[in-house]
Amino acid sequence: MLHAFRQTKNNGRIVIMRRHFTHILLLVGVVLMGCQSVPQAPLPDNPRPQMEAVAEDPKPAEPTRTATIVPTPTVLSEPIHLTATVWEALPQVPILMYHRFDPRPGGTSYRYTTSLADFDQHLSALYEAGFSLVSLDDWLRGNIHLQAGRRPLIITIDDLFYADQISLDETGQPAPYSGIGRLWAFAQEHPQFNFKVALFYNLGDKGYANQYANGAFTVQSGWREARAHAIAWSIEHGALPMNHFYEHPYLNQLSPDEIQWQLEENDTALRDALASIGREDLIKLLPNILALPYVVSPDTEAGQQVLYDYTNPEGAPVAAIIKGDNAGGARWFQAPFSHAFNRWEVPRISASTQAVADIVSHAEQIPAASSCPLGEFQGNPQILPDVISRAILDQVNAGHCPYGYYVVNQLAFYVQEDVIIQYAP
Ligand SMILES: [Zn+2]
Repeated sequence: MLHAFRQTKNNGRIVIMRRHFTHILLLVGVVLMGCQSVPQAPLPDNPRPQMEAVAEDPKPAEPTRTATIVPTPTVLSEPIHLTATVWEALPQVPILMYHRFDPRPGGTSYRYTTSLADFDQHLSALYEAGFSLVSLDDWLRGNIHLQAGRRPLIITIDDLFYADQISLDETGQPAPYSGIGRLWAFAQEHPQFNFKVALFYNLGDKGYANQYANGAFTVQSGWREARAHAIAWSIEHGALPMNHFYEHPYLNQLSPDEIQWQLEENDTALRDALASIGREDLIKLLPNILALPYVVSPDTEAGQQVLYDYTNPEGAPVAAIIKGDNAGGARWFQAPFSHAFNRWEVPRISASTQAVADIVSHAEQIPAASSCPLGEFQGNPQILPDVISRAILDQVNAGHCPYGYYVVNQLAFYVQEDVIIQYAP
């Protein structure tokens, strides 16, 4: 996208022009030689599809100079050290899709069930190949941090909440006979792997087996409370529930009103579960991300529009629609910094031993993170983006850090030569 930008000398100052690019409007700021402007660019985004084709304007708009000047407030506080996560190439990520788990010794994996022995092997193979988990929610916001040398991976699990997916033991810890319990244990042993997972839940189509004995789960009284505690543990530890429709319906068999009901009812049930154990405090952590049951879309335009227009009970607009294998013809999911990013066609890969081996054998296609120390900053109340921009440019111009995508706290920048662009948070 950088070829869209030009810099020119103007009274000795370097200024950056912006251009209107088909789907992208980037306001660009640069901080050089005492000139300050406001870097506030929306993340390149996919506009909400309206159900008619809109011809793209092949001619870019006339460049406009950004000229706003914002004074930097002087606030004294304890200095803090900042380090940027750096992506020298556009980050992209494989998204694995799991469903159920079989905890029995000698259990075998098949299409929608993974034996815990196979799951352990998948996690080890991915970890050894350099992969570490990032959160789907963070990825969609461009908040993509990883330890230097690690490659991003997203794990999703569908059709929660089954006890083979997550059970808590008597001490409130995730049990080793559940998939999330295994993932949690692996992340404890390998802290660099991280513990982040997206859980697509349907609360209206099943009970929750709160009893486990001899490899078998059964539903006993108190299961709703047990499920609520499993949900709360998940949210607190980075396994975020996301909407997979209340009764796991075929969306092509529902009216728009019924689709809306399936989304609202599911969201309400999750919040009611948290309220039932006094954990409403966790609701603010819930993203609004949808996954299509059976990867089947509504078959009417009005039905599809319900998905794009859906806001959750807290008023958040839908951030993405998650689909299945090769959605949109892609194997990996792009970062929001990319022209190819499409939040309405998020591709996933059905998890299997073969699929994991395939990801491992293509690991070099997935860029690894590096890092760039930016130095000390006064951090009260927060460090201004233009201060961070200047620090990044200083490090790059001094040859200490490479060109690329810089993620600092929740802010993202692209830097190349004397040009720096900030993507809006
Ligand atoms: Zn499902």
